[in-house]
Amino acid sequence: MAELSLDRLNTAQRQAVETLFGPVLILAGAGTGKTHTVTCRIANMVEKGVNPASILAVTFTNKAAHEMRERVGLLVEKRAARKIMVSTFHSLCVRILREDIGRLGYKTNFTIYTGSEQAGLIRRLIVRHGGIKEKITPKDVLSAMSRMKNSGAGLDSIDDNLIASVIATYQREIHAQNSVDFDDLLILADKLLRECPDVREAWQKRFQFITVDEFQDTNSLQMSLLGHLVGPHCNVCVVGDDDQSIYGWRGAQISNILEFERFFPNPRVIKLEENYRCTAPILDAANALIRHNLGRREKTLRAHKGGGEPVRLISMPGDVEEAEFVIDDIESLRSKENRPWEDFAILFRANTQSRVIESALREHKIPYRMVGAQSFFDRKEVKDLISYLATIANPQADEYLLRIVNTPPRGISDVTRDLAIDWSREHGNSVWAALQDEEFLASLSTRTRNCVVAFNELIAKYIDLFDDKESDFAELLEQLIEETGFSNYITQMCKTDAETQKRLVSIGEVKASMRNFWQPGKSLQDYLAQVTLDKEDNDDDVEKKPGVCLITMHAAKGLEFPMVYLVGLEEGILPHKRSLDDGDIKEERRLLYVGITRAQERLMLTYCATRLRYGDRMPCQRSSFLSEIPESMMHYETWEDIMTTPVSEETQAEFFASLRNMLLEE
Ligand code: ATP
Ligand code: MG
Repeated sequence: MAELSLDRLNTAQRQAVETLFGPVLILAGAGTGKTHTVTCRIANMVEKGVNPASILAVTFTNKAAHEMRERVGLLVEKRAARKIMVSTFHSLCVRILREDIGRLGYKTNFTIYTGSEQAGLIRRLIVRHGGIKEKITPKDVLSAMSRMKNSGAGLDSIDDNLIASVIATYQREIHAQNSVDFDDLLILADKLLRECPDVREAWQKRFQFITVDEFQDTNSLQMSLLGHLVGPHCNVCVVGDDDQSIYGWRGAQISNILEFERFFPNPRVIKLEENYRCTAPILDAANALIRHNLGRREKTLRAHKGGGEPVRLISMPGDVEEAEFVIDDIESLRSKENRPWEDFAILFRANTQSRVIESALREHKIPYRMVGAQSFFDRKEVKDLISYLATIANPQADEYLLRIVNTPPRGISDVTRDLAIDWSREHGNSVWAALQDEEFLASLSTRTRNCVVAFNELIAKYIDLFDDKESDFAELLEQLIEETGFSNYITQMCKTDAETQKRLVSIGEVKASMRNFWQPGKSLQDYLAQVTLDKEDNDDDVEKKPGVCLITMHAAKGLEFPMVYLVGLEEGILPHKRSLDDGDIKEERRLLYVGITRAQERLMLTYCATRLRYGDRMPCQRSSFLSEIPESMMHYETWEDIMTTPVSEETQAEFFASLRNMLLEE
């Protein structure tokens, strides 16, 4: 175990690590060691005798939480490290609610609906409210609802009556199904802590020391939650960079960081000004850009590293050439400098940009990991299995039950399904209740009735089995897969052997995740909460997978890579055209700042003259942000220049030498 050594920290960092009591605000630019400092600070608490179970660290994503847990694990004795709670706001809320949601009229076995279940329910409600005719889409409703919930507003804030009534019904139904969505997790936990002083005091007593990383991205609800959690001791440390606030569109309030003093009076404010991540040319470019944002807290950032190559800016004729060029550059640097693929990251603004790059990577047979791609939990077979487990945990959650009621096919047709939905609506009860109801059953044909009863018995049996705290969940899952003939069904559905193989592997992975998770005392709800929260993050643990990293600028927050390529820096992409309309260009500038400051050693920026959009080649303009970085700070070239420059003898010799090395390696 590595010891915590304060010698390796600079003076300001050490100050932060040693200030354990009272409110602390660490306000510092990118790469100045904020996350590193709070991790050491937590280790220092343990060393000074603070009970590890009274330490809470909140991070923004599950991945950041895993990472912080790992880093703390290197500095603190294992047993103590395990007791420290490192969590996202959402997981923390699940924990709070799991104990006391009863006080708000829910049952503790509540189900969490993720985006797809939410959309499924809303789609049905739109049909029921006649919204199809009005051309209302689930997306319209979802975004209006999320905006409403995150801003703490009520239904009267929604202009469109139809959307408002869909939302009202949605709220009623989701509550009746004993389910909550992601935004509800925060809203309900906040409400619980606000309305029940005993619950609030218990949590305040439990966490004596609270730390929040990436504080600039908290929204007003999260801020309010933090306010409830921090007890009279006021031992709260938040870390952030107002220049990296990139979640305004999700209601994040940059003002939280700017007004921290108002929430927690007289904080110790610590500024870190030494950047340990980037070379000077990279940092200069980042500083020059962000200076254009008005109303920010001025700060100086100095590069700790000496030297460094100039930032390259290259114009490309089109997106295909751009992808090829970036990949050639990666291949040549890798062989020249003998670097692992993991040193390279390609960052982009919009998901649609990744397709061309992905196909080029595949063509070159370069291993890569895509962050933000279809997540494991979005695969059909995985969703089906999770839906079985969710139904067993809470059969009232219609969305999950409807997904598996006839999967694999067991004679319960869509017509029967719709009848059950109608019945449930008329009786204000769940679909599960319909399927149990004698009258409803009597209305079905004998054959269908037998099928429904068999389904009921299957679910009831597994409810009992999973309820037994002694049973091994992984074995139960295995038994369930066997009994439902799920693997056979998946095999029959697949068109090729390769597809079958892939899907069976996913089933194996669900079993493995259950095996890893389960230990005596944990419930099925605990497992599902973890799965659901992981899913939302969409993070297939980036660091652990081999290959070049393909990642959106949003998802890259907090990460660092030796070699970074920022592609597609065009007007309309970054700044995104939506932000041009909304006028919130500052957030887009911060996003580019986040992108630039991910680079440790080399940075290349590219933009295209044309880009294929909806099958047409469209002309593009380079991003106006690029003109905000002085020309002297970047080495500008065009693709045409580079392609027509004859290869020098030296480069040629280098090329053959590296080729020889590669052949020898193999
Ligand atoms: P971001 O704003 O992107 O979240 P950050 O401020 O959290 O960045 P870290 O990720 O903690 O920065 O640190 C950036 C890099 O600097 C890491 O590689 C870290 O190990 C290194 N670092 C931090 N402090 C020091 C130090 N005192 N000496 C040497 N390296 C350091
Ligand atoms: Mg950080």
